[in-house]
Amino acid sequence: MQNWHEKATRISFRNQAFINGKWVASASGKVFEARNPATNHLLASIAECDVEDVNRAVAAARKAFDSGVWSRASPETRKTVLVRLAELIRQHQDELALLETLDTGKPIANSVAADIPGSAATFQWFGEAIDKVYGEIAPTELGNLALVRRDALGVVACVVPWNYPLMMASWKVAPALAAGNSVVLKPAEQTSLTALRLAELAVEAGLPYGVLNVVTGFGETAGQALGRHMDVDCLAFTGSTEVGKYFLRYSAESNMKPVWLECGGKSPNLVFSDCDDIEAAADAAAFGIWYDQGEVCTANSRLLVEEKIKDEFVDLLKKRARDYQPGDPLDPTTKMGAVVEDRQTARILSYIEQGKSVARLVEGGEQLTISGSSNYVTPTIFDGVTNDMVIAREEIFGPVLSVLSFREEEEAARIANASIYGLAASIWSNNLKRVMRLSDALRVGTISVNCMDAVSNVVPFGGFKQSGNGRDLSLHSFDKYTNLKTVWIKY
Ligand code: NAD
Repeated sequence: MQNWHEKATRISFRNQAFINGKWVASASGKVFEARNPATNHLLASIAECDVEDVNRAVAAARKAFDSGVWSRASPETRKTVLVRLAELIRQHQDELALLETLDTGKPIANSVAADIPGSAATFQWFGEAIDKVYGEIAPTELGNLALVRRDALGVVACVVPWNYPLMMASWKVAPALAAGNSVVLKPAEQTSLTALRLAELAVEAGLPYGVLNVVTGFGETAGQALGRHMDVDCLAFTGSTEVGKYFLRYSAESNMKPVWLECGGKSPNLVFSDCDDIEAAADAAAFGIWYDQGEVCTANSRLLVEEKIKDEFVDLLKKRARDYQPGDPLDPTTKMGAVVEDRQTARILSYIEQGKSVARLVEGGEQLTISGSSNYVTPTIFDGVTNDMVIAREEIFGPVLSVLSFREEEEAARIANASIYGLAASIWSNNLKRVMRLSDALRVGTISVNCMDAVSNVVPFGGFKQSGNGRDLSLHSFDKYTNLKTVWIKY
């Protein structure tokens, strides 16, 4: 078994911004602290970028784009570099997994099994896809040839959250680069480390200087500067719905850049008594809310169970809560680690307090102190929740499950849709007609039937309603990072 604690003593951190292929301090010289939420130990002092740094990064990205060194490189060349980058991510899997776990508090087992190989797979997929994307010839009268091409946009800014730092960056950076754009990536201030390492590996893979830049820093400053920049052609964001709306405003008040949003969720998990494997449904329901401390945009945080099996199902979940007791994230057997920071822990606990006053707390709801950090919250279940309660409406982004019950399929669909969000849903049933009726009715981007969190490079990912617009992953994500151009030739 790997000794991750021992490895952690030897790991080094990049802590400066990466602009035009160079490590640079922030223009102001300011830094901010990156702490391990599992222990509160200081990991690194990171460059605090602001408007001036963003200007430099965008200028470098623009210069690289205009030079054609990447934007006019053949698809074959771009493929070679991105596939090599995927391979380098795999070669540095342990290092990247450790960086991710130290920075986020998520279990090392999850970083090793999902975050890092998933990110590598995304670079591989988009690298391999780009030389298979064709343009169109429109149907016109003889004597005319109308070509519809997909052109790279120019400078794409990617602003990403802290829950899947490398993976969310990969979902945006990989297709944006594959399409020939230059990129400025801003990681969340809580989690800068893997984004910085990614930029370095990209250069090692052969990506020319200036094509991928990373500015570290806070949302209100560096993030806003990207959102308002007149020379950023497209803004791709993953994060909260609240901040997603800011980006729409920044765009409206600057250059009308397209803004692509992957925002919050409050995903319903519908369990019917005609599901023939109730144990599998319970395993998935537990995973769906407690994996990665519930800090998952698609977390199945609203469990809608048919009334006649509700008590039995809640008992099954309570048993599974034992497997998710929080522990040291560097222990490979830990299934739930630390919450990302004190502020988020306080937010989760305040929702739990709020929930206690209206619903029945039947499991967890406690804060634990481990290794000197109090960022640990036990797996929590509220029973007797109704959809008007705050704990059923708002995204908690923690290990807190709200259990609601229903009698009829139509009632289940109505409750499921009664949300400002529409990211994902799960259905557990062996009745095909029911599943198809619900697939028609549910207004969400992804429906997982008799499974949980169906996410893959081969299918689009994104939301309806205030969960956002546009889609990450699959060939559809090229829609975000390219523009259509018609060339009409008369002969
Ligand atoms: P957040 O919205 O607070 O921050 C996301 C990013 O935006 C960070 O880089 C942050 O620095 C930046 N930012 C914050 N305030 C800003 C401002 N005023 N102007 C410009 N930039 C600003 O989100 P978070 O707390 O990092 O992540 C959790 C949220 O992300 C949850 O709502 C979750 O649902 C969402 N999320 C969505 C998906 C998805 O694909 N739909 C995936 C992962 C996370």
